[in-house]
Amino acid sequence: MRCPYCREDDDKVVDSRVADEGDAIRRRRECLGCGRRFTTHERIDALPLVVAKRSGVKEPFVRAKLARGIAQAVGGRPIEGAVDEIAAEIEEQMRELGPEVPSEAVGLAVLERLRALDPVAYLRFASVYKDFEDVADFEQELARLQKTTAPKRRAPAGS
Ligand SMILES: [Zn+2]
Repeated sequence: MRCPYCREDDDKVVDSRVADEGDAIRRRRECLGCGRRFTTHERIDALPLVVAKRSGVKEPFVRAKLARGIAQAVGGRPIEGAVDEIAAEIEEQMRELGPEVPSEAVGLAVLERLRALDPVAYLRFASVYKDFEDVADFEQELARLQKTTAPKRRAPAGS
């Protein structure tokens, strides 16, 4: 780390401690050129997650916005209290796919989740989602989703 006083590149760390409740490391350094001390903070870069819309527009993923969309669909339903949890799970899922995900992937992940939790919320979300996306593509995706997540039927015994 370059010394802010004399521009020397060599220093030694004389103290290192956790700062910001574990989100950063604070280091006291001593310049090997002039002997003066200075402080550095090391922290993890927040990893961006970007949603790419069909129009090509990219915007940062905002969990609160997703939660609002889900809240609309589950209003008055027994799973109403699970909105934040669902949104957090979707975010986690998208981060595994990220750093850039198509908006359809987000919508479909919500559909998949709601489908398993509450059929009414699922249909509501599906109809809202439909307003925003190209209908034909949506139905195609939905058909694909239904195929891949429908309960598997056992093959008849003996066949
Ligand atoms: Zn120095």
